[in-house]
Amino acid sequence: MTAVGIDLGTTNSEVAIVENGQVRVLPGEDGDLILPSCVGFSDTGKLLVGREALRQYAAAPDRTVKSIKRWMGTDHKTTLGSGEQSEYLPHEISAIILRALKQRAESVLGESVNQAVITVPAYFTDAQRQATKTAGEIAGFEVLQIINEPTAAALAYDMRSEETEQVLVYDLGGGTFDVSVVEITGDVTEVLASHGNNRLGGDDFDRLLQLHLASLFRASHGMDVPDDAVTQARLLRAAEQLKIEMSSHAFATVREAFLASKGKTALHLETEIARADFEKLISPLIEETLEAIDRALTDANLQADDIDRIILVGGSTRIPLVRQMIEEHLGQAPTDGIQPDLCVALGAALQAGVLAGESVDAILVDVIPHSLGIAVAVNTQMGIMPGYFSVIIPRNSVVPVSRSEVYSTLLDDQEAVEIEVFQGENMIAQENVPLGSFRVENLPPKLAGGVQVEVHFDFDLNGILTVTTTEKGKGQQGTLVVNNAGMQRLSSNELKQARVNLESLFQSDETIGKSKIATISPELTTLLDNAQKALFIVDEAQEEELQELLDKIDDAIADDSPELPDLQAELEDFLYYLSTDGTEEL
Ligand code: AMP
Repeated sequence: MTAVGIDLGTTNSEVAIVENGQVRVLPGEDGDLILPSCVGFSDTGKLLVGREALRQYAAAPDRTVKSIKRWMGTDHKTTLGSGEQSEYLPHEISAIILRALKQRAESVLGESVNQAVITVPAYFTDAQRQATKTAGEIAGFEVLQIINEPTAAALAYDMRSEETEQVLVYDLGGGTFDVSVVEITGDVTEVLASHGNNRLGGDDFDRLLQLHLASLFRASHGMDVPDDAVTQARLLRAAEQLKIEMSSHAFATVREAFLASKGKTALHLETEIARADFEKLISPLIEETLEAIDRALTDANLQADDIDRIILVGGSTRIPLVRQMIEEHLGQAPTDGIQPDLCVALGAALQAGVLAGESVDAILVDVIPHSLGIAVAVNTQMGIMPGYFSVIIPRNSVVPVSRSEVYSTLLDDQEAVEIEVFQGENMIAQENVPLGSFRVENLPPKLAGGVQVEVHFDFDLNGILTVTTTEKGKGQQGTLVVNNAGMQRLSSNELKQARVNLESLFQSDETIGKSKIATISPELTTLLDNAQKALFIVDEAQEEELQELLDKIDDAIADDSPELPDLQAELEDFLYYLSTDGTEEL
């Protein structure tokens, strides 16, 4: 039975396998190794996953969602369309993405795939890990393990020398940044320290560039780019394309037709951007990542020159300035090799191979990203002070890990104690992330300090925390399995129901996974966007003509008709005619 490795990313996801000792990322039907982490419904209610969903994001942001990973572990609801079930929790959306990856693997391998290792950022909280695991289960996987992304990346580089190597893994993706210092000795990979910001990534660069483009448009046309969602989404997409082009070119041109209109005049955005200007916009954000590198080094008790190797992970590390600033900061060039956006999936597949008994001999050691403990009251000279954070498992402990601490009652005849569990680094408990609480009651009447309660924390390989309390001498027990922020572990019935719901979404359209995007070129995508925009500024007769042409194109796409290139040319001519008819350009 094949076990797959999955990089469930904020922007993009991938699925990989080990086959005959070789590890590879599996392509979709369109040949693309990357599945955009985007989910939506078409106007006819068809479920769209990946590039197809992303394509409609600009036109239908109310029916499409991306970057759901930022919400994992919360009960944030996303409304998608107006179907029977229109509200989705983050793990339900992630389950749709995972289900699409499962289907991708099954269609490449021609067999069912039921086991997976899924990666998460090293600093993901318990709730976020649990939500990821639940998403995998809803998608129909047995989740063999949730592993940290930097550990997976290091595994992919397969640096199994006899010497111990200290490796810095710098991961800048679409929506998250994560830096980890890992130590690799032979087959053992240990995360020494990790820092990050789950709200920093390529999406932020896109937004900065979007604002820059908007200000250039304003300067040229004396008016703002319209504030509606569709136009702004177009501008954002143009910004991302521009950014990617500037990774390999010192200058790049943006052309967005029909971005706005002044009376009957269409206004376009057409301008050249220099890489140097883009770098000026983003360098404060990259500077922030360098500070995180320093914090991780300090936590790992290392200096920059103790680092033997730097590994870059995530699509945004293709930006030359990122590489350059890291090199200047650490006095060492990052290692080249594996494509930065596939590295994590490859490492996850290696780990899946190990767990499924393939002949891949790597062993994983992970650490916990945040300290775990409980709130306690302490007796000070100024009296009893409640709310201190007592750490039971310190951050960066190697997992799995179990630790206990013993606490005593503070008052005479105290009947109960409240066990409030937190994760974080602040000595004031409330400043940390609350994970849950429970009460231990019916304590025997004794003087202060007379009753002792042992609090035991058990943190497993999937990053899930189980807390047990035992009253010394009496053996009374209380247990809490931590599922934070309203994120409940699903009961088996709830899980079954969630799977049925997901299946019905996929079955309601048999073409899912058979992405039609292969028949729609990027040029046609741009033309269709422009045509939608043009509909608002043409006169009635032109509108009718254009709409008729668009309907024909829709049908041609749906039927994969050979007439599509001719219709595309017709649309191109139509728009050209419009744009030369008294328009202005930037
Ligand atoms: P990941 O989450 O690792 O797939 O990274 C996705 C992010 O990488 C997105 O923000 C992309 O826009 C960005 N990205 C991908 N390729 C490039 C490139 N060549 N230059 C700059 N950014 C890129």
